[in-house]
Amino acid sequence: MRPPVLDPLFAPVSTLPGIGPKIAKLVSGLVGGQPDRDATVADLLFHIPQSVIDRRHKPGIAYSENGDIVTLDVTIGRHMPPPRHSKAPYRIPAHDETGQITFVFFHPRRDWLEKTFPEGERRIVSGKVDWFNDRPQMVHPDYSLKPEEAATMPVLEPVYPLTAGLPSKTLQKAIHAALEKVPDLPQWLNEPHLHKTGWPDFAESLRTLHVPQERTDIEPHSLYMERLAYDELLASQLALAMVRAHMRTLGGIARVPSGNLQKAVIDALPFQLTESQAAAIREINEDLAKPVRMLRLLQGDVGAGKTVVALAALAQVIETGAQGAIMAPTEILARQHFASMGPLCEKAGIRIALVTGKDSQKERRIRQEQLEAGETDLVVGTHALFQGTVGFKNLGMVVVDEQHRFGVHQRLALSAKGQGVDVLVMTATPIPRTLVLTCFGDMDVSRLTGKPAGRKPVKTVSVSLDRLDEIIARVGAAVAQGQKVYWVCPLVEESEKIDLAAVEERHRVLEQELSQRISLVHGRMSAADKDAAMADFKSGVTKILVATTVIEVGVDVPDATIIVIEHAERFGLAQLHQLRGRVGRGDKPSSCVLLYKGPLGETAGARLNIMRETNDGFLIAEEDLKLRGGGEILGTRQSGTPGFRIARAEEHADLMEVARDDARLILETDPELKSRRGEALRCLLYLFGRDAAIRLLRAG
Ligand code: ADP
Ligand code: MG
Repeated sequence: MRPPVLDPLFAPVSTLPGIGPKIAKLVSGLVGGQPDRDATVADLLFHIPQSVIDRRHKPGIAYSENGDIVTLDVTIGRHMPPPRHSKAPYRIPAHDETGQITFVFFHPRRDWLEKTFPEGERRIVSGKVDWFNDRPQMVHPDYSLKPEEAATMPVLEPVYPLTAGLPSKTLQKAIHAALEKVPDLPQWLNEPHLHKTGWPDFAESLRTLHVPQERTDIEPHSLYMERLAYDELLASQLALAMVRAHMRTLGGIARVPSGNLQKAVIDALPFQLTESQAAAIREINEDLAKPVRMLRLLQGDVGAGKTVVALAALAQVIETGAQGAIMAPTEILARQHFASMGPLCEKAGIRIALVTGKDSQKERRIRQEQLEAGETDLVVGTHALFQGTVGFKNLGMVVVDEQHRFGVHQRLALSAKGQGVDVLVMTATPIPRTLVLTCFGDMDVSRLTGKPAGRKPVKTVSVSLDRLDEIIARVGAAVAQGQKVYWVCPLVEESEKIDLAAVEERHRVLEQELSQRISLVHGRMSAADKDAAMADFKSGVTKILVATTVIEVGVDVPDATIIVIEHAERFGLAQLHQLRGRVGRGDKPSSCVLLYKGPLGETAGARLNIMRETNDGFLIAEEDLKLRGGGEILGTRQSGTPGFRIARAEEHADLMEVARDDARLILETDPELKSRRGEALRCLLYLFGRDAAIRLLRAG
């Protein structure tokens, strides 16, 4: 039940004075009401201004610059109405001691103009100045007040994101009315924290953002914005922590094997584990030993060596007699996992199988029977793994590779195929920590930092497509010296046909110019053809692989040393980084050529610069976040951070971490939210729409 103290904030906006059904609808569309209900007063209050107009700016007419919003103290001159039936604007000259200005009105209402700008009288007029033919003018001033009324003009006027048909003055009035409704709310932040930060309380923060006293009040790091952003982040972190606590009560299985199988896998590796790989495996083993379900995100830059960690984790589960599954986003990647894990599994005595959508009926039936009989320990596959028919004897762990391609429901679908299934999610997209916390807050995180020893950074250059011939010649020379080269062409969905033609054409041209057989891989080929092409390239039968972005994720050919990315300007940063990660996997120096078609836009230019400057995936991800905002990284294409109204991942990262720790501590000391602060926190969860988590408390 929602605490009654919040009732005024959850009233529909149509209950505010001056908001009829029509305006209520516009307001709801703007501030995020649902299709079936009006926005609430709280929704409206969380609609924060994007900028402020400073009406204190009074430079005088002559010193007003083009585009400035100024307040002028003028004497009104003789009106200059347009001739009858003319569409020309109505002009009113005015002057102060520095100069002359003209106020300009289209579709004039004469009686109103005569009343508001009476000839020969003094008026305080505010609005935007335009210089036109060396003369200042002001089209439709925002205010014209008698000198004695000047104080009624807001000093700093908030400017809101608007929607067509909703006048800003109407919205402002509604927000002012809404501010009147803010009740006295209990304090959900703890005293020492408040004291340390000097944050004002919730109501005061809201009020100040809507009635700013200084321009800086609405900046992301003002005390007021930080306070509200923190409230929102805390609500979100608390809800996520509650969900996680609930999931864990659903029960998992404590897996405490001898560790011999895991050791056998590790011993079979032709290299030493890196420090962080070993640490991640330890963390996973600890999770597995607990009688709760593991939900862990394994994050590591491309080439960091996540696969080995996953296999070690699976071995631990398999030793207890359970089965494991690895789900890959593409068939190529599934096959590759199968190929690279196969020999290790064989040495360790793990029975591994591959399931893809392209298996024949008969193959599928056999695989299926083996899985159900428990004769297969580990299955590698694509989404085919979820499709209803696949059953396991005793599924114990699911590894999901390249998380961001799968939805949460797919993850759950697979884990529903067994009891207490442990889940390990691997992502090579170096999602910035902030976004992990905001979006995957229900998971623990292991991070592979650094790369396996001996790796060298990939030297990156950007080159205009005009110099294609030169690049082809250099690729030819490199191949003659025994190097292997990826040549990537973009594949954009909307124009798939054209791009397909482009990749085939590039393949043809390269074969011709370099007079050798070259492998080609693209999404329209059959699995067998793709496999054959990849195998040729991997084994060295061919030295060059022309591919669309199907190779983006995970493909591992350690001795490839050059990657050419054609139309690099079309790719996002994360994707470029993923692609570049295909090289630099062996001990030889590698390079990446970003072939772009000019002229470059500002963002595309910035992306290529970042790629040239750094190989650090996490840094790139942070830059990406700055260039794009959080929404796009997760593919939701909204502006701002998805699911948040005030907090922004790129601005409030530090607050996010504090909020997470705060949430943890709260649940440790008051898991049922029953203390005084707990009750206040319930209000907070409702305020920010995270109250669904409260129902879990009761269910659990
Ligand atoms: P990613 O994290 O991108 O999935 P992979 O697991 O595909 O990376 O590993 C990339 C390459 O690095 C593989 O060829 C793998 O065998 C190799 N590798 C993994 N761990 C190590 C290590 N500790 N030392 C040397 N090579 C390693
Ligand atoms: Mg991988």
